Amino acid sequence: MSVENQSAGIVIIGAGLAGWHVVDAIRAKDKDIPITLITADNGDRYHKPMLTMAISQQKNAADLVRATGSDAAKAANINLLANTQVTDIDPASQTVQLISALRSDPVYTNYATISYDKLVLAMGAHPIFPKSLPEDLVWHVNHIERFGQLQEKLAAG
Ligand SMILES: Cc1cc2nc3c(=O)[nH]c(=O)nc-3n(C[C@H](O)[C@H](O)[C@H](O)COP(=O)(O)OP(=O)(O)OC[C@H]3O[C@@H](n4cnc5c(N)ncnc54)[C@H](O)[C@@H]3O)c2cc1C
Repeated sequence: MSVENQSAGIVIIGAGLAGWHVVDAIRAKDKDIPITLITADNGDRYHKPMLTMAISQQKNAADLVRATGSDAAKAANINLLANTQVTDIDPASQTVQLISALRSDPVYTNYATISYDKLVLAMGAHPIFPKSLPEDLVWHVNHIERFGQLQEKLAAG
């Protein structure tokens, strides 16, 4: 990550429907204010409720992507930190701590700190997993990547 000592502005954590819609709403009012969008995934824009119908419509994960994260970031004139996880927020110093979400790969072990003037939390939710259910048979499909994995499993029978 080459993000250390980045200038402050609006920092949004989360690039789901909420995060990207905040970007759209800010840009509708202000074309120039610095915006940094941080996401643990690749930041691709897609309409999550479409996951419900994708199988019956014979669409795969790639078909659902409306714009890649990098294309959408360029169009909105924002700084996208994809595959980046926020590990800590310090409201006193108005900073967030980052680490690569790909850190299991030794190439990506950098830590970084960035500042914010305004911070938006758009991190979604994690569904609980009832202990009574067999984990190997039950799939939470709350992300396009997970949907792609489910499709692969189904294709393999
Ligand atoms: C199959 C399905 C069907 C649905 N159908 C409908 C429907 O018909 N109508 C309806 O109203 N809603 C529906 N929903 C719900 C709706 O899609 C979700 O509520 C909505 O997409 C959530 O968006 P979000 O941006 O809040 O969260 P998410 O999409 O979960 O995005 C969270 C973002 O935060 C990032 N993030 C989280 N933690 C960190 C961290 N520590 N560091 C960095 N990044 C982080 C993630 O990487 C991600 O980018 C459906 C959901 C599913 C799964």
